[in-house]
Amino acid sequence: MVEKFDLIVAGAGPAGASAVLAAKGAGLKIALIDKSNFPRDKVCGDFVMARGPRFISEYAPSLKERLDQFPEKAVNKSTAIYVDDFDPIIWEWVQRSITIKREDFDHMILEEALKVEGVHFFPGETIKEVRRENGQVFVRSSNLEFKAPFIVGADGAHSPVAKSLANYKVDHNHYGGSVRAYYSALTNISSATNEVYVSKDVLPGYFWLFPLSETSANIGLGMHSRHIVPNKVNLKEVFYRFIEESPTLQSKMSSAEMEGPLKGFGLPFYSKKFNLSGDNYILCGDAGSMIDPMNGEGIYQAIVSGLAAGEWLKENLPKGKIGANASFAYEKAMHKRFWPEMRTKALLVKGFAHRSKLISSLARVGIRNPWMLNTLKRMM
Ligand SMILES: Cc1cc2nc3c(=O)[nH]c(=O)nc-3n(C[C@H](O)[C@H](O)[C@H](O)COP(=O)(O)OP(=O)(O)OC[C@H]3O[C@@H](n4cnc5c(N)ncnc54)[C@H](O)[C@@H]3O)c2cc1C
Repeated sequence: MVEKFDLIVAGAGPAGASAVLAAKGAGLKIALIDKSNFPRDKVCGDFVMARGPRFISEYAPSLKERLDQFPEKAVNKSTAIYVDDFDPIIWEWVQRSITIKREDFDHMILEEALKVEGVHFFPGETIKEVRRENGQVFVRSSNLEFKAPFIVGADGAHSPVAKSLANYKVDHNHYGGSVRAYYSALTNISSATNEVYVSKDVLPGYFWLFPLSETSANIGLGMHSRHIVPNKVNLKEVFYRFIEESPTLQSKMSSAEMEGPLKGFGLPFYSKKFNLSGDNYILCGDAGSMIDPMNGEGIYQAIVSGLAAGEWLKENLPKGKIGANASFAYEKAMHKRFWPEMRTKALLVKGFAHRSKLISSLARVGIRNPWMLNTLKRMM
């Protein structure tokens, strides 16, 4: 039997949960569907810039307190950027960011979203089919069928909603690949300092070591598909080789133990203005290809776009405004907010990211020159 809702939200990660939080008070009957049972792992670097939680806390005030009190996280004051074997460039954060396992972070946001009246959560339901018919959206999942006049696609990098309704196809010019694993028994690290490694072996991309405590970290590598695909790069091999050949990493990882497997996932970059809206749908977060093409950050865009979608829904859904003309206002607002920054970063990545000698030379000069150092920090 098809169950009828006012709204379907596909995906209960930061984007989907934020959309639900911002739709609070609209009196909507919402189906929130996710293929996972929470808390669930999400392949990520786990680095959450301060601005994401700050925005969402306006909609869920208790979240800030919960995050502040949660002990299993690292509070980051700086990032150390290692270019080749030079001394690191230290980037002090104005506001403290955190590194926290997504299993914990996403679960806390979801718990806040599930307090919203009218939300029905369907965990463990993989969306198999999404179709639009007679002005309604129909969703078929592992065991159930749903129907609503509108759907929010917040179902991540492999979004069935984006593929079905926005005709989204992976474009390797605007995509990246990445792998990450958790390690314990590390030495010479500080939970207050994230580490980023740039060298010809990982460009166009970077290697990261994001501490979760004084002895454990999320360690990973991301690279642009423009390089991975034609060169048939095996990211897992590059990851292990990079650790083995880096004297700096060896000084920290010689007795380290891997906790769980090295997992990979896609990075849909915001290096092009993707379609974020249409008749009966809106796309948020990774489903709308909103990952920063320079540093791989996506949680912030997921939260901001989810909240904006929720606000738009609250205003428009009760009035029956569900067509492409109306939902385009959301798309326009998102591109206005993010595109100038993302376009600049995409151009820098395209122009410089594969030129390892130039980056090395800039770093060599930059470390000694305060003006150059600030310019370099802004670029990264
Ligand atoms: C290796 C790696 C490292 C990263 N590091 C960082 C970082 O340090 N900081 C940062 O800000 N960003 C980082 N990102 C990006 C960040 O992970 C994403 O931008 C962010 O998770 C986007 O949130 P979202 O809610 O849009 O999607 P997701 O968090 O992916 O949530 C989507 C949800 O949809 C569900 N779903 C998917 N398919 C279906 C289906 N068929 N049916 C039902 N449900 C479905 C999933 O289970 C999931 O819960 C990284 C990404 C990768 C891959």
